[in-house]
Amino acid sequence: MADRIQLLPDNIANQIAAGEVIQRPASAVKELLENAVDAGADSIRLFVNDAGKALIQVIDNGGGMSATDARLCFERHATSKIRTIDDLFHIRTMGFRGEALASIAAVAQVEMRTRRPEDELGTCLEIENSQVLKQGPVAAPVGTSIAMKNLFFNVPARRNFLKSNASELKHIIDEFIRVAMAFPEIFFSLSSNGQEIFHLEAGSLKQRIVQLLGNSCQTKLVAVREETDYLNISGFVGKPETAKRTRGDQYFFVNNRFIRSPYLNHAVMNAYQDMIGPDTFPLYVLFIDLDPVQVDVNVHPTKQEIKFEDEKIVYAFVQAAIKHALAQFSITPTLDFELDSSIQGLDSIQKPFTEERQSATRSSSIFQTFTEANQAHRIDTGNSLPKWTLPEPPAPGEAGAAVSSTAIFTSLHAAFAVPERVEMSQLFQTYILVPSAGAFLLVHQQAAHERILYERLAAALDGRPVATQRSLFPATIELAPADAVLLADLLPDLLPMGYSIEPFGRTAFVIQGTPADIETGNERAVLERILEQCKHFSEIKLPRREMLLRSVAAQQSVKAGTVLGDREMQRLVDDLFKCTVSNATPSGRPTYVEFRKEQLEKMFGR
Ligand code: ADP
Ligand code: MG
Repeated sequence: MADRIQLLPDNIANQIAAGEVIQRPASAVKELLENAVDAGADSIRLFVNDAGKALIQVIDNGGGMSATDARLCFERHATSKIRTIDDLFHIRTMGFRGEALASIAAVAQVEMRTRRPEDELGTCLEIENSQVLKQGPVAAPVGTSIAMKNLFFNVPARRNFLKSNASELKHIIDEFIRVAMAFPEIFFSLSSNGQEIFHLEAGSLKQRIVQLLGNSCQTKLVAVREETDYLNISGFVGKPETAKRTRGDQYFFVNNRFIRSPYLNHAVMNAYQDMIGPDTFPLYVLFIDLDPVQVDVNVHPTKQEIKFEDEKIVYAFVQAAIKHALAQFSITPTLDFELDSSIQGLDSIQKPFTEERQSATRSSSIFQTFTEANQAHRIDTGNSLPKWTLPEPPAPGEAGAAVSSTAIFTSLHAAFAVPERVEMSQLFQTYILVPSAGAFLLVHQQAAHERILYERLAAALDGRPVATQRSLFPATIELAPADAVLLADLLPDLLPMGYSIEPFGRTAFVIQGTPADIETGNERAVLERILEQCKHFSEIKLPRREMLLRSVAAQQSVKAGTVLGDREMQRLVDDLFKCTVSNATPSGRPTYVEFRKEQLEKMFGR
C-alpha cells in the first residue's frame, strides 16, 4: 500500500492554527490592539463595520515596520518580541507567539500600510489566504494601519458560527475596554459603522475608568495601592454599598495583561466578606505587577489565563490590600475624590451655599421650569400606593359583579370556591390572604405582579403594544458607552413595551415617553435598573426576548413591603388568575401557596 501521510499546504495549516487564536471578530480586535500597544503607539483607533464581520481596522502611530518586516510579520512564528525560550520568562510585551498576524492573514483579506519614522516611504501590502497579492512602497503616516475584511470569507463553516451583530459587537467592546483600561496613557477610539462610540483622551487610571464605565463610577471608587518587594498592587475597588447584581465591571491585570482568574476573584470577594449582600458583585480594576519570572503567560493561546509561580502569596496579598483599602475608606469616607479642575473652579463649588443664595436659586426661572417640568407630566398617585391604576369595581349585587375572580378561580381550582366578595387582607406588606370556604391562598404580591406584567409585555412584543404616555419635558440620560450600545440595541423592543426612547448623540438618550400606567419622574433610575437586570440575565445566558421580558417585568413590579389597598389586592388577584400560567413567576418561583382546611386540621391533630 502507498504511504498516506502528506504535509498540509501552508494556507491550510495556518487556517487550522488560526482556530486557536482567532475565534471571532473580538479576538482579532484584541490581537491588533495589543500589537499597536507593543509598537509604542500613543494613539490607537479602531474601526469596525458589521460588528467586525465586514471590517476591522486598527490605525496606530507606533514605530511601524520596515519593508522586510512588513512581509515577514504575516509568517507563522514570526515575532520581534522574543528570540530564545528564556525570553518567555522576561516578557514585557503583550504579544510574543508570532501567530496573530499569520492567523489573521489565513482567514481574512488583509491590507496593511506601515512606515517607520526613519523611512521616507512606507510599505503597502495586501494578503489573503496567506498569499501576498501585492506589495510596494507607498506614502503613509508614521505607524501602522491594518485593515482586515470579511473575516472567515474562506471558512464558511466558521463564519456561520458567528453570533448576531449585537452579540459580536458586545465581545468587541469587552476586548476594547480591557486593553484601553490597562493603558490610560494612550488615546483610544472605537467607531462602529462610522459612529464613534468611545473617544478616550489620555489621562489617569481613574479618568479612564470613568470614561469606560460611566460617570456614575466617579463617586464609587476606593483607591488600592500596596507595594512590596515581591509584587505591587494598584487600582480601584468599588465601595461596598455600590456592589451590583452583575459581575460585569471586574478587571484583573497582571503586568498590564487582562486575565481571568476565579482564584484571585475569590480573594477579592473574601476581602468584602460581610460588607456586601449575597449574590452581589463589587466593581474592581486591579493591577498586579511582579517580576515576569514569577508568571507563566504561555499557558493559554489567547493568554487570558496565566500561572503564578506562587499563587498563594498573590492571593494573600490581594486580599490584604483590598481589606486595607476598604478599612481606610470607612475611616475617611469622602477624602478620596479629585474633582476635575474645571469643575473645582465653579462658583457653586467654591462659594458657600448661604440662605441668600438658596432663595435666589429658588426664584430663578431655570429652577421654576425644572420643578414645573417635573409636575407637568406626573400622574398623581395620590399617596404611596402602587403604581398601577384601577377601574371602579362593579357595585355588589350588580350583574356580573366579581365575575372575573370567581369564574376563573373556580375553573382553575375546581374545589376552591371563592365567595362573591372576597375580603382579602395583606400580611407583612408582602402576602395577600385570599380566604374561601374550604381553603385559603397566600399570594406573594411581587411574584404575582411579575407574572402579570410578564404576560402583558409578551403580548406587547407580539403585537399588542402597551400605551405610551409622552413626556411633556423629555428627560435626557447619559450612559456608559457599553451600556449605550446595549440600550441602542434594545430600543426597537422597548417601544412596544411603552418606552419611547431616542438616541441623542454618542452615549445620550432622550426619553420621549414611558408606559402610561407607571409613574414618571424617575426615568433614569428605571432604565438603569432595566439595563442592570438585562446584564444579569444575559450572564445566565437567557435568550434575548426572555431577558428583556423578565427585566422589564421585574423592574415594574410592585415590591414586597408595599402597602396595598383593597382594590389593588382584588385587582392583582383577578389579574393573576387571568394569566396563562398563574402559579409561577417567569423564573419559576411560586406566585401563591394554597392551604386547604384538611391540611390545617391534620396539623392540629384533628
Ligand atoms: P507577536 O505580537 O506575538 O509578535 P504578531 O503576529 O501579532 O506576533 O505580530 C508579528 C510581528 O509583527 C510583531 O512581533 C511585530 O514586530 C510586528 N507588528 C505587528 N503589528 C505591528 C504594529 N501595529 N506596529 C509595528 N509592528 C507590528
Ligand atoms: Mg501580537
